[in-house]
This record gives sequence, C-alpha cells and structure tokens, in this order.
Amino acid sequence: MNKILIANRSEIAVRILKTAQSFGYETVAVYSEADANAPHVSMADQAVLLGPAEASQSYLNIEHILAAAQKSGTDAIHPGYGFLSEDGYFARRVINAGLIWIGPPPEAMDVMGNKVAAKLALVETDVPCVPGYSGEDQSEEAFIAAASSIGYPVMVKAAAGGGGRGMRRVASADALPDALASAKSEALKAFGSDEILLEKAIVNPRHIEVQVFGDMHGNVIHLGERDCSIQRRHQKVVEEAPSPAVSPELRNRIGQAAVDAAKAVGYYSAGTVEFLLDETGAFYFIEMNTRLQVEHPVTELVTGLDLVAWQLLVAEGEPLPLQQEDVTIQGHAIEVRLYAEDAHNQFLPSIGDVHLWQPPIGDGVRVDHGLASGMAITPYYDAMIAKIITHGETRAIARRRLRRALHQTAVFGVETNRHFLLATVEHPMFVNGEATTNFIDQAWHPASDDQPVSSKLEALAALLCYQRTYVTGDNPLKNWRSQPSTYCFDQENRIRTVTVQAISSSSYKIQSGSETTQICIVSQTQNTLRFDQDGLQDTVVYAFNPATESSPTLWLHSGQETVALTDVLLAPPETVHVASGGNIIAPMPGSIMRIDVTEGENVSKGQSLLLIEAMKMEHTIAAPFDGKVEQILVEMGQQMKPRELMVVLVN
Ligand code: ADP
Ligand code: ADP
Ligand code: MG
Repeated sequence: MNKILIANRSEIAVRILKTAQSFGYETVAVYSEADANAPHVSMADQAVLLGPAEASQSYLNIEHILAAAQKSGTDAIHPGYGFLSEDGYFARRVINAGLIWIGPPPEAMDVMGNKVAAKLALVETDVPCVPGYSGEDQSEEAFIAAASSIGYPVMVKAAAGGGGRGMRRVASADALPDALASAKSEALKAFGSDEILLEKAIVNPRHIEVQVFGDMHGNVIHLGERDCSIQRRHQKVVEEAPSPAVSPELRNRIGQAAVDAAKAVGYYSAGTVEFLLDETGAFYFIEMNTRLQVEHPVTELVTGLDLVAWQLLVAEGEPLPLQQEDVTIQGHAIEVRLYAEDAHNQFLPSIGDVHLWQPPIGDGVRVDHGLASGMAITPYYDAMIAKIITHGETRAIARRRLRRALHQTAVFGVETNRHFLLATVEHPMFVNGEATTNFIDQAWHPASDDQPVSSKLEALAALLCYQRTYVTGDNPLKNWRSQPSTYCFDQENRIRTVTVQAISSSSYKIQSGSETTQICIVSQTQNTLRFDQDGLQDTVVYAFNPATESSPTLWLHSGQETVALTDVLLAPPETVHVASGGNIIAPMPGSIMRIDVTEGENVSKGQSLLLIEAMKMEHTIAAPFDGKVEQILVEMGQQMKPRELMVVLVN
C-alpha cells in the first residue's frame, strides 16, 4: 500500500489525510464542484474532481470514485464515515478492482448493516439485545400483536436505518399504524428498503458504545466506551469517554459483549458496537456501525492511540499493536459537534459564506475540521462543520477546557449551534454527568426572542465602524476627527444609536442611550481587538462581511456572544430608517435645504423636521415618534457628513 484515496470530504477527509501522510503514504482527495476550494483538496498530494455538488453525482458515485482511483494510480481506498463507508457493495467493488479496502470485511458490513440480520447473528452469543420483534411477517397485524406482547412504549425502527431516520417512538396501540406507515415510507426513501423491526423502548437510557478493533489474524479487542447520550432526533451532539455511568467492572462486561459481537461476524478494522444502558444498569445491543465513527477522537485522546493509523496497519495485514490488557484509559475527553444551524429556530441548517473561522487553541484542545475563512457552507452535505474535543486528567478539567474553547470559537457568516453547545456544557445535568438521551427535551429551552446585543459589543461595533471610515491608510491620524459620529444598528427591528467621539487615535468616548463609556485600544490585528473599557481589558474578534460593501455587516465575537450588526445609515437610501432613539442623523452627505421646526416645539410622528438635499435629490427627514425637539444642531445651507447629528428629539 503506497497511495491512498480518501472517498470523503470535510473534516474526516482532512483527519485521514493527516495520518496517512504522516505515515508516508501518498494521498489522493476526491471532491465535488462545490468543494473545489476546500482544504481537504489542497492538502492532498493529488485530487480528482468527481462531479457536480449533489452527493449522488459525486461522493456517492461509485463509478467516478473508482475511475479517480485508476487515474491517480491509487492502491487503497479509505471511505471515512457516512457516504459509502457502510456500503458492502462499494467495498466489494473496491476489492474487485484490485484495490485495498481500508475497512472491515464486506460480509460483516452486510450483516451489521441490517438491524434484523445483526440481531440474528448474535442469537448464539451472550450479547443481550433489546427485546423486540424482527420477524419476516411485516404485516400490520403481526406488528400490532408483537407490540402488545413486548409492551408499550415501543420503538419502530428501519432495519436498514442510520442517522436516526425511519425511527418512531410509539406510546400506545392506537398510534402504531400511523407510525408504521410513516417509518416505512421514510425508510424506503432514505435506504431503499421498508423492512421494519420493533424494539421495547428503553426508558431514559444512556447511549453507551464500545470502540472495537480487529485484525485479519482473528484478534479483536475493545478500546473502552463512549457515552453519546446527548442526542437530537437520535443523532449525537456531545460525546465523551469514559462514560460517567460506567464502572471498571461494567466496562469489562460491556467491552467483552462488544468483542463477542464483532467476533460473531468475523470482524476486523475499526467498528463500534452500540448499546443502551437502562436505569437499572442493564445494557442492550442496538446496532453495530462498521466504520470509523464521527466521535472516535474522544477514544484517541483517552487511549493515546491513532485509530486511523490502526486502520492502515490492519489493512496492510499487520496484527493489532496492543493486546486487551495493554489498553489503558487516561483522563477524560469530551467532543461537541459544531453544526451550521440555528438552535433557536428549530435547528434549521444555515448556509452561507464563512467570513471568518477562528478555531480555539490551548492545552488539551483538539479541533477536527475542514473549514477555512472564505469557504461556503452549501446545502448539499451534512451541516456539521467542526468537532471541538478537549482532554484533561479529570472530567472537570476536560469540561472546563471545552467551555473555554467554545468561548474562543468564532464563526462569522452562518448561524451555528455554539450557544446551544455552551448551554449544554454548562447545564447542571451535564456537569454532574447525569444526562440521558432525554437531555435535550428536558433541558433545552430555546430563547423565545433573540437576546439583545450587549452594550459592550454595541460600543465596539460603533468604534470599529468609525475606524473603518476615518482611521484608514498609512497615516491613521490623517483623517482623525474630533466631531462625534453616530451609528445606527438595526437589531430585530429595533434601531439603536451609538455615538463615537475620538479623544486620541487610540481612545474613544462612546455614548449609547444614557450610557457613556471610554474604550482604549491596547492592540489590534486584522480581526482581533484588545481593548480597555473603563479599566477592564478584554478581546473582541471581528470581521466586516466583504460581500456587502455598500452596507457592511460587522460580525463580532466575544465570549458568549456572536453578533452581526449592520449600520443602517450606510444601507441604500430607500431603506434608511431614522433613529428611534431620538438622535436624528444625516443619512448621507448633503446640505440642509430647509428646517421645519424650532427648539422646544412639540412634533408628531411623521411630521417633517427638515429637508436635506443629497445626490441631487431632496429627502424629507420626518419625526420617528411623537415628541419634543430638544436641540437643533444644524443651520440652513450647512454641509452634512454622513451620520452627523442634526436634531435631538425626546419623548
Ligand atoms: P451514528 O449516529 O449512526 O453513530 P455517526 O455519529 O457516525 O453515526 O454520524 C454519521 C453522520 O455523519 C451522518 O449524519 C452523516 O450524514 C454525517 N456525515 C457523513 N459524512 C460526512 C462528512 N464528510 N462530513 C460531515 N458529516 C458527514
Ligand atoms: P441509527 O442507526 O439511526 O443510529 P440506533 O439504533 O443506533 O439507530 O439508535 C439511535 C438512537 O435512538 C439511540 O442512541 C437511542 O437514543 C435511540 N433508540 C434506539 N433504539 C431505542 C430503544 N429501543 N429504546 C430507546 N431509545 C432507542
Ligand atoms: Mg446508531
């Protein structure tokens, strides 16, 4: 084996490339048109375009992948996870093409790829399975009879299922026919098979899975468990090793059960045997995943092993480097999956250009990703954009490192679930290691309304907008001005006005409503500002969205908060709003043609305050609310700069 093609994309392609290259293998990436600029492509020694963005025409296109292997002179294929990784037919095609399949034997993939066949394969073993019905009779009557003898609640599951699809929890007999019908149609669409099985629904379980490894010489060992109980729609979001619920004694028993399951199908390479642990401490097999798992890094961090390196060794025909008694678990590791999705809006995926990606760094922090600033998140693939994994001597240290890492993580341009992950990591149930698969339903309450932006970030946004306009070029002092400039930020239809006045080139007085603060710049790079606000030094990460030059959106990140603010005064004139705070500002450069009010006058909403001429057009500036004119700061004929304060209204 000299040259390896990685039939995958994103973080897992990058992950596999790193190990393959470090062990001296030549590497080949494949990619779709949507991924032409992705890091996994440029990192590989060679790369081959598979086809258009749609997975069916690229990462799932077996003919194109085999053609890419031939074109590049590859002699082995690693499938990663997802896509074709669990497809026994693909594995056979790779082998029949004379290539090495870096994965398990295709026969074992076939058996374990079907939840009914998998359970059947374990009948002769001591591996406990969830009680249920997986009979050949797929009639509604058969399921109804089976469900009543199993006892409700039951799980309806697609035999070929994966990723939580085709699964329904059914609480009572009257809901069963509908659940069967919808699970069948979902399964047929997703997996091309509508075979269904029933399982007793385990109440409030933990998802405990065991990493197994085998070689071609009949050795199979386990590398401990992972607790993946925090799931959304049966899909993992947070994973850790070891499980807070597993004692060394239980680890031995569940580990042995996993090894027995793997041996029952003649398994080699990396695999994961999934169990549910119930409230009494009993565990039940649910399925086996015949591939490298998304969450394999937590196992790597606590065992100190490189699982991809082991996959390569096993594919070369080498024996496993360790025996069971040599495997040790050290410390604790936690992984979170960072998704481009809006956790406050039903977890809808979020697509767009990533203007800035700043992963966290620090002791015990590992970030697996395939992202780069400027890259697009497209609708074609999974919304997972990165995995943040931390390790520590104790669970408390790993958790604290993860919390800090999440504070440091900045993604500008798309919504992410970062806030949700932080809330999870800080939740008392998680802190105490008590989360079960019901965690999200029990513990996650999305904010009904978006949180208002903190006055700190608002002040910084105004400062950065000011800098962008006046403090540019080689001589930052050239355009420095002492008059205040006002910025208007539209937040969920509430306009907030912030006024900036430079005191020196590095110190600013900022006024927002009745609050005044002073911010001094300590140091600054292209995307990071270290500042001192009223005696407290802190850091903000920022970037202007390059795509919206005319009305730049400024992204800011500091600790808990990531916000995007647009200065509405720089928006195209027809969208100009007038400040609701009562500070009436020149929306554009122009001259005052008429002043319609006097100081002290009461005005009503919509009444003309003054007329400004700009760009050969006259614009009436009207009162945004009923109020009193407190101050008029302009004279007839005066030339206005954009954002200059003209009139102050009070309620
Ligand atoms: P399971 O939940 O069955 O254990 P995993 O946790 O391993 O499965 O996750 C598989 C998930 O990864 C699927 O939801 C799949 O859509 C997603 N996926 C597959 N390939 C990729 C990829 N290259 N990048 C990101 N996500 C992927
Ligand atoms: P998939 O192939 O989609 O990964 P699994 O069988 O691994 O499906 O189940 C995924 C998740 O669904 C489990 O981790 C668990 O949270 C839930 N689940 C599956 N079977 C049961 C069951 N019998 N009782 C309770 N929850 C279950
Ligand atoms: Mg599963």
